[in-house]
Amino acid sequence: MTRRPLVAGNWKMNGSLASLAEVAAMGGAYDVALKARVELIVCPPATLVAMAVEVATRLGIGLGGQDCHVDASGAHTGDISAEMLKDAGASYVIVGHSERRADHGETDAIVQAKAAAALRAGLTPIVCVGETRAEREAGDALAVVGAQIDGSLPADAPDTIVVAYEPVWAIGTGLTPTPADVAQMHAFARERIEQRLGGGKSVNVRILYGGSVKPANAQELMSIANVDGALVGGASLTAKDFVAIADAYR
Ligand code: PEP
Repeated sequence: MTRRPLVAGNWKMNGSLASLAEVAAMGGAYDVALKARVELIVCPPATLVAMAVEVATRLGIGLGGQDCHVDASGAHTGDISAEMLKDAGASYVIVGHSERRADHGETDAIVQAKAAAALRAGLTPIVCVGETRAEREAGDALAVVGAQIDGSLPADAPDTIVVAYEPVWAIGTGLTPTPADVAQMHAFARERIEQRLGGGKSVNVRILYGGSVKPANAQELMSIANVDGALVGGASLTAKDFVAIADAYR
């Protein structure tokens, strides 16, 4: 089993050309020792992917998109295909983020189609799952996440696919689950991924934790069994905090 930790930054609808200076600063702090231990990627808004690639690639930082359409091209005004992200230099794409599920009504079936589109284009999908506060309080967190894994992962996905467990109530709130709850969910998710993909693939699938990861809690969260890295929102916007989170693997 060799799961290389992955720390991915989701810039959401933030960032301008000036923000590329942050990517350069991330590269400056992402030294040889850290590169050997952890993979670092940033997922800026689509407007910045191509330009960020120029800065990031020479620094060893990967690029991802935040969403893709299920089709490769066509009459879908405002949308971006996985093939376009690939063409722009991305190697990853986030699919099924809870903000996409909530703001755009994305169902598990749509998320699965997007993950399949990413694989078709040669991108690695980062498939997001996670329960709401009401679902956790009702004791349904495992059932909800299990159903999302079943519905959102293409059954024939390779073991390179990445899954991000992001409790909706932890995103942007400063709240995080207890380490015991994270450990329980990640162990459960790996079992469920195995049921879905079969063939022992789940051993290699990286399962990220996301939701209010900060430099102050990264060490604790990243040391939990079956946590193979982080999907970071707010704290990925500045090089200092983002690299400090990756530093949990130093
Ligand atoms: C996210 O949106 O994927 C996320 C984890 O956000 P934050 O780190 O800001 O909670």
